[in-house]
Amino acid sequence: TAATTPLAERSPEELQAYLEEQREAYAALCERGLTLDLTRGKPSSAQLDLSDRLLSLPDGITDADGVDVRNYGGLTGLRELREMFAELLWVDPDQLVAGGSSSLTMMHDVLVQHLLHGGLDSPRPWKDEEKVTFVCPVPGYDRHFTMLASYGIEMVSVPMLADGPDVAAVEAIVRDDPSVKGMWVVPTYANPAGSVVTQEVASRLASMPAAASDFRIFWDNAYALHHLTADEAKSADILSLASAAGHPHRPIMFASTSKITYAGAGVAFLAASRENIAAYLGHQQFASIGPDKVNHLRHIQFFGSAQGVRDHMARHREILAPKFAAVDAALTAELDGLGIAEWTRPAGGYFVSLDVPDGCAARVVALAKAAGIALTPAGASFPHGQDPRDRNIRLAPSFPQLAEVETAMAGVATCVALAAAEQLTA
Ligand code: PLP
Repeated sequence: TAATTPLAERSPEELQAYLEEQREAYAALCERGLTLDLTRGKPSSAQLDLSDRLLSLPDGITDADGVDVRNYGGLTGLRELREMFAELLWVDPDQLVAGGSSSLTMMHDVLVQHLLHGGLDSPRPWKDEEKVTFVCPVPGYDRHFTMLASYGIEMVSVPMLADGPDVAAVEAIVRDDPSVKGMWVVPTYANPAGSVVTQEVASRLASMPAAASDFRIFWDNAYALHHLTADEAKSADILSLASAAGHPHRPIMFASTSKITYAGAGVAFLAASRENIAAYLGHQQFASIGPDKVNHLRHIQFFGSAQGVRDHMARHREILAPKFAAVDAALTAELDGLGIAEWTRPAGGYFVSLDVPDGCAARVVALAKAAGIALTPAGASFPHGQDPRDRNIRLAPSFPQLAEVETAMAGVATCVALAAAEQLTA
């Protein structure tokens, strides 16, 4: 039997021998006493270093319009920064707000505003609905789901496919159920599947009939500019598509520089219809006198232009691409052809999504933990942390050094092989 014969095609004796091999490999792994962490999609310190000129900016205290950035005011954010990112996100500057340092906070604010006040075309505040439901593509971003859970919002899962959410499934749910008020979409290099929403899927999401008049797409473009290859995906222009389809207020787009400059200390953006922007700011005016414009000016000067942002992203890519290649290489070396694992080879973003045999993900994570390799808990990418098939594992290779990624991933591959062999011989 060749080393790449699928495990399912091997005889019981061969499987037993494979299991013994993996037990030995795993024992050797444990003896190394590793402490490695592939849990969170954080930039590495080498990536953060790329932005350290920020620490000596801004130069001066006024922006191009003569605004003294040290003082209150300007709820929409500095004009030049909005123009720069409007170009990068393919929206009009007057449809874009530059806010504080977290886009997640902006998503939360928009959600809470809809709960308390309703949106432009809501019959009543969402809190007064018997039930509010969101469509959640899975695997997805854990914080999207925990945010909804914290407000008692129901979640209905749809599969995330290579071209975006399973749009036929979404259409059916949204058309029939008036409690469905929204959905999450990470359109570019999704967390964790790496998929990119195609023009066709975006156009169907923008135009599909919805039972709820105030159905919203939370279009979280956190990885819009985070390419890992020269083939730079352009995000679909959801605002124009929705507007052309007669649903101008449906999408609300979010982005930030958390993984461009500093995580949690960059600038966050919100883009939507002019009316949605006015509604958002209408509520926001009671919460803030204006954003941190010193940080806005710092970012304007640091980047210089939209092209400056693209050039900066190319330097991130140089650091990140080898780590993603190392993930693929380690999984391929150990698991290719065995029929026990499938993983993504993303062209951007921060994650690799690994599927192991049904019922094995929690076991793989536990084996890795005992060997000193921290993985995101199995199920984390699903509503309520429950992966119904217990098969998905989110890998985040950005933070550790390249050599650590190589070591950790070889270890993960061993854990997958052992868990699968255990299951097949049980
Ligand atoms: N959205 C997605 C899809 C993310 O993966 C993350 C961070 O991991 C965020 C938002 C957080 O964004 P921010 O730092 O702007 O709050």
